[in-house]
Amino acid sequence: MQRKTKIICTIGPAVDTREKLMDLARSGMNVARLNFSHGDHESFKRVIADLRSIEEELGEPIGILGDIQGPKIRVGTLKNKTLELREGASVWMTSDEHTDEDNVITSTYKDLCKDVAVGQTVLLDDGLLRLKVTEKYKGRLKATVINGGKLLEHKGISVPEATFSVHSITEKDYADILFCVKAKIDFIALSFVRSAQEVRHIKQFVHSRETAIKIISKVEKREALECLEEIIDASDGILVARGDLAVEVGNPRVPVLQKKIVRRCNLKAKPVIIATQMLMSMVENPQPTRAEASDVANAILDGADAIMLSNETAVGRYPLEAVKMMNQIAVEIEAEPRGQAILYNEWELNADGQMAIALLQSAVRLASILQARAIVVMTRSGYSSQLISKCRAACRVISVTSNFDTYRQLSMHWGVEAILVHSLKELSSEASPLNELGDVLIDHKKLVRGDRVVFTAGLPEPTELPTNTLKVWQL
Ligand code: PEP
Repeated sequence: MQRKTKIICTIGPAVDTREKLMDLARSGMNVARLNFSHGDHESFKRVIADLRSIEEELGEPIGILGDIQGPKIRVGTLKNKTLELREGASVWMTSDEHTDEDNVITSTYKDLCKDVAVGQTVLLDDGLLRLKVTEKYKGRLKATVINGGKLLEHKGISVPEATFSVHSITEKDYADILFCVKAKIDFIALSFVRSAQEVRHIKQFVHSRETAIKIISKVEKREALECLEEIIDASDGILVARGDLAVEVGNPRVPVLQKKIVRRCNLKAKPVIIATQMLMSMVENPQPTRAEASDVANAILDGADAIMLSNETAVGRYPLEAVKMMNQIAVEIEAEPRGQAILYNEWELNADGQMAIALLQSAVRLASILQARAIVVMTRSGYSSQLISKCRAACRVISVTSNFDTYRQLSMHWGVEAILVHSLKELSSEASPLNELGDVLIDHKKLVRGDRVVFTAGLPEPTELPTNTLKVWQL
């Protein structure tokens, strides 16, 4: 059975050759994530070229997502590259990025020692290490180690009780975004988004450069939770960044927030990704834990469109096994009966969206009654496919488009398979939209003659009308 939930793989040293990228794609990767917190433009250029040639060879779209670092405060360099933090011991923190002293933690944020107060808790490395600030002395902080361990250079620093006056988009971020625009990648993920205004600003910044890049907001800040609705409305999709989110709100709150964010995205028909530590133990082991397998399955049951692998594929010992495992878990859970579908009066869409979704939900119902092999959606912007994806059809959904950007961006949407054609107009007339299209579907080995399908599109093509056509048809 074909998997419907999309899989995103983070690219890193464990998989950065063409051969390994090809193995990832063959094992189930739909979207490749380039993490701009690590890696340089030259190596990303090579990976992008490899991914584009693999996509052509396989004849299936592979989306590319650039994850922009954002204003994350990090440890700078350390005297001996690592620092062993022993529980109960004292350690110093400075606002400098480099040090030649022992027992000093550096920082990329120049106002760290000014903005952090005595008594506050400092979390390092996604909260794995924990300090309590006991003194401020000569522009430095003295802290006691509460949870110890080995600190590495460039790990994250978070102080949930402090307010930092960092710019939301840094100079490095702008340079990385321009790189993504030039490289014509498909999605940009913005880290540490705090307002819808930031998202609109970056959308305007990239769209004024004539690119169709979709903007995904990572929800990982308390400020973002306070204006979640506006951020979802302003974004093309949402990534639930559970690592930094957990540092902000604590682990016990994350499962509840995951369910809430997924539900809100689904009602607004925006794609939503669940990320971080999904199969974390597979960084070291060839099998996940039972809890990890359940986490993947539950994210799908919650209604996620895509699930993401981070260290598992970027630096893990078993990257292919991790993708295959994720694929297998998704196939198993998708075979089970689905939960409650979204009802007609629940969608939160504009007037065109409401009309389109009413027709598309009817297409899904019709396909189920007729036991159709597939729903075929003709789309230019991808919007009809984005909407029908949220209706969670049991049969296949095949999207036909003549737009290369749309073709690749459909890689993020639950249950949508994409076909790229020369021209939609040539394939469709109002009288008989399906004759030529039928041959294309058979040529692409998506369907065979005799298959019954439900066809939907906005016709006549080209049109600014929302989806307005529904036909039942036998190839
Ligand atoms: C996260 O915090 O969960 C996340 C996905 O972001 P990053 O990997 O950039 O820390």
